[in-house]
Amino acid sequence: METTAQVDIKKKDRLIKSKEVEILYDQARVSYLAAQSAALLYIFFLWGQASTSILLPWIIVFSLLNIVRYGFVYAYFKAEDHSKNYKIWLYWFWAGTTLSGAMWGGLALLILPLQDPNYTAATILVISGLVGGTLGTYAISRLSYLSYSSTSLLPLMYILLIQDETALKLFGLIVLVYYIFMAVSMFRLNIMMKKGVNLQFENIDLLHQLEHDKETIAAINQELDIEKRKDTEKELLQAKNKAEGLADVLSMLSVKDALTGITNRRGFDEYLANAWNRAIRNRSSISLIMCDVDFFKSYNDYYGHVPGDDVLKRIATAIDNRARRGNDLVARYGGEEFAIILPDAKIDQGYIIAEQIRLTVKELVIPHEKSDIDEHVTISLGVASVIPNMDMHSPSLIEQADQALYSAKESGRNRVFPELKQDKVTVLKDQ
Ligand code: GH3
Ligand code: MG
Ligand code: MG
Repeated sequence: METTAQVDIKKKDRLIKSKEVEILYDQARVSYLAAQSAALLYIFFLWGQASTSILLPWIIVFSLLNIVRYGFVYAYFKAEDHSKNYKIWLYWFWAGTTLSGAMWGGLALLILPLQDPNYTAATILVISGLVGGTLGTYAISRLSYLSYSSTSLLPLMYILLIQDETALKLFGLIVLVYYIFMAVSMFRLNIMMKKGVNLQFENIDLLHQLEHDKETIAAINQELDIEKRKDTEKELLQAKNKAEGLADVLSMLSVKDALTGITNRRGFDEYLANAWNRAIRNRSSISLIMCDVDFFKSYNDYYGHVPGDDVLKRIATAIDNRARRGNDLVARYGGEEFAIILPDAKIDQGYIIAEQIRLTVKELVIPHEKSDIDEHVTISLGVASVIPNMDMHSPSLIEQADQALYSAKESGRNRVFPELKQDKVTVLKDQ
């Protein structure tokens, strides 16, 4: 099996060779015409100097040969696949030049020496001149040139050398020197012409290579581009997911109290504002419970801050689990204070829920040695309720609930303020 490179080299070689043949045929058009004109003129001037029985057939055969050769040139340029069959075309060309050379050489053998030495000299000049003229046109094919110059000049040289006359022998030697000199020139010219053709194809090769490189680079670029885009998209997606995740966590954290896990002050404010506006729209009531751990400073002082934290967590969870109706919100308002928003709850319902919360905390039975009022941790609660309108603002409800809490503290702690009458409690509980 041939490799691609080997196939390429062979292909290039064939292209170069066929180009050389093309050059030959292209030049032949002019050189045939020149040879034909020279032959006609020469025979015309020679008429009478040599035998007509030689000259006439010669010019006829020569002209016919030239016509045939012209026919080949015509056929060559007509043929579409002449680069494929370049070898055959080269053989035909070579045959034509050999025959043409032989015609001149033959003529020299037949008619030389002529009686008038001027005509002998003219014959030498014509044949040598024609060989000189073909140098430029046939040099691309060494074989064609050598067969033409050999078949024409060597018989000429031979016939001169065998003559007795020294002048003619000298002519023969001059022809030999001329033959050698022209052959050397032909070889040098051949190298130059071949270089020229090669260069042409090297440029084509380079262009092909460049074209190929360009395509490869474009393909690589495209691949890189796609890969890069894919990577960037992936990175962006990851970053986006991460950012969204962080945003979720942040927003959750921002409304959640870190210690107790229930809603923090911020969440409380947002929720109250919404519930407040809803209550205005619906003309419904809204209640708020504020609670505060009793004697908690003493607890911290006695048991330590960490157990104090633990108490806050337990209270928060207990309130959150117990007190919540559908839309109720339990929040850590700050320090050891908790707040419960009760949308749609009137003061009576608020009181009942507050009382439940108080009991829930008490039932945790967390020992509190330093409480002035009980053995266990207790809380005080203040309740406020309102049916808000456009002129009212939610802080006023907080203030009221705070006031109530203060009253609960003042009136002995571990209680709800305002106190609801006992019979109302019973009625409400029954409902
Ligand atoms: P009162 O019965 O009047 O409410 O008395 P009190 O001691 O509970 O009230 P005070 O306002 O004097 O003290 C509140 C204490 O709550 C002070 C502080 O040590 C404690 N406290 C506030 N926040 C935290 C907390 O996050 N963790 C702990 N362990 N203690 C806290
Ligand atoms: Mg307090
Ligand atoms: Mg307190």
